[in-house]
Formats: sequence, C-alpha cells, structure tokens
Amino acid sequence: MDYAHILQRIHRDIAPLLTQGRVADYIPELGKVPATHFGMALVFADGRSHCVGDAAVPFSIQSISKLFACTLAFQLLGEDLWQRVGREPSGNAFNSLVQLEYEQGKPRNPFINAGALVVTDVLCSRFVQAETAMVQFLRRLSGNPAIDYDPRVAQSEREHADRNRAMAYFMKDFGRLEMPVDKVIDAYCRQCAITMSCEDLARAALFLAHGGVVPWSGERVLDASPTKRLSALMLTCGTYDAAGDFVYRVGLPAKSGVGGGIVAVLPGRWAVCVWSPGLDHSGNSLAGVQALEWLTTLSGHSIF
Ligand code: GLN
Repeated sequence: MDYAHILQRIHRDIAPLLTQGRVADYIPELGKVPATHFGMALVFADGRSHCVGDAAVPFSIQSISKLFACTLAFQLLGEDLWQRVGREPSGNAFNSLVQLEYEQGKPRNPFINAGALVVTDVLCSRFVQAETAMVQFLRRLSGNPAIDYDPRVAQSEREHADRNRAMAYFMKDFGRLEMPVDKVIDAYCRQCAITMSCEDLARAALFLAHGGVVPWSGERVLDASPTKRLSALMLTCGTYDAAGDFVYRVGLPAKSGVGGGIVAVLPGRWAVCVWSPGLDHSGNSLAGVQALEWLTTLSGHSIF
C-alpha cells in the first residue's frame, strides 16, 4: 500500500476545504490559530511514518486529552471506572448539561466534557498534580520529552469555563466528584491546553493499535482487553454526537478535539493524526474528517 502517495494526494486535494470550517473561538486563544493549517502523520508499529503539511507543528490537543486521561483512569480503576462514568453515546453536544439531571449526575461517557471532568476528578484524587501526570504520560507515550501545556491557552479556557464549572458543581451536588470543583476545573483546563503535533499524537496513540503496548519502548499501557474496550468507546463516543456519521464515513476508532486534531487507529496496523483547525457544526475538524475518509477509502483499510 502506497501510503506516502495517498497522504500526498489528500494534502493536495484538501486545500479548498481548509477555509470552510470555523475555528473554535469560545476559547479566545484558540480563535487566534489560522484556519489554513493542515497536517497529517501516519505511524506504523515498526516506527515507519508518513507525514504531510504541518505534521510537526504543535497545536492544542483539547478533547484528545480525554482519551489519554481516560487511559490513565482505566489503568487506576479498571472496570470500576464505569461506576463513575457511563459508556454510551450521549447524542448531545460535548458540552451539554441536559442529561445530567435526568441521570443523577452520572455522565454518559468519558469523552464528553461532563465525563472528562469525572475522569479528571479520579486523576486529581490519585496524583498530586493530575496535569503533571498527564504531561509525563504523554511524553512517555510519544517519546517527545518537550511536550507541555500552554499556560496562555489554559488561562484563556479558565476564564471562559463557566459552563464546565456549572457541570462540575451539578455533579458535585449529586456526590459524583470527590475533589473540590476549582481543583478539577484547573487540572482539566491545563490538560486540554497540552500542545502536541500530529507526529506526537500518532505516536502516543500507537499503543491502541498494538494491543496496549507502546511498540518502540515496550511499555505496557493497558492489557489487550481494556485496550479493545477503549477503542470501542472511541468508535461509539470519540467524535461527540457525530460519532455515527464519522464511523459511517471513516470506519475507524477516533478521538477529536476542538483544537482541530483527530487521532484514529487501525488496530494491528497504524495510528494516524490529522490537524486542521476549522471545525464543522459538531466540533470536529471539517477537513480532518474528510482527510480520514479519503485515507480509508483510498487505502481500502478500515476496521470494516
Ligand atoms: N477544552 C474544551 C472544552 O472544555 C474541550 C472541548 C473539546 O475539545 N471538544 O470546552
């Protein structure tokens, strides 16, 4: 399979779509990123990789952090994690509050904001600084010791986090959070503000394509069965309430973020990350989803 050629073709054909999405500006620092960026990195378990465009440019990982936070919480709690957070698609926007009252403050899944706040609460109760644990984890998974969070993005998000704060207080009232709301929101904003490139993120997600082991370092992140389960959650919940359409078009487990990044894995083969800051109405990268659709269509490789 000539992946180099496929990625070059995607890079060439994607240009008209780069101005069609809308950059997330509800976090003002994110609104400053030019919509015209596009990068893509595909990494194989044996270390080979193919990159195009801005694949080495760091960007705000935002909700992609929810995948790695959930991995850490799954390591710590195992199946008990699901006492705290569900594993069903929500069918609502990632920052919606509506289900929380009907469902006694238990979020539908770890990849919407409410669920991610519960996961961050788990990490805050186990680590002195949850965001430091996340940064160290991502440095190990990606092999890039320079990864960190961007304090300006974290501050910008903190100043506009009233909806997330409302969710956290609501869940706290239902007895769903152990730690103080301010501490959880602080750690959550920093974790979302971590910056990584497509190359970093594709490498960091590779353990999911490799039965839970980081192929190049040998670190076992999760056993094979929890790895399968996490990938299943990505498939059903990883791209917000557009997960059904995403799977229809792309056919891969994936996790997106409002910074415009999407990571996806083909179990047993490779991990890929695409980045383009312009978002569609669901909050997924408009060009990113199209690029992944072309990748699986042109290669004929998806999980189906
Ligand atoms: N930090 C963002 C928020 O909480 C993350 C959302 C996202 O990437 N979907 O709103």
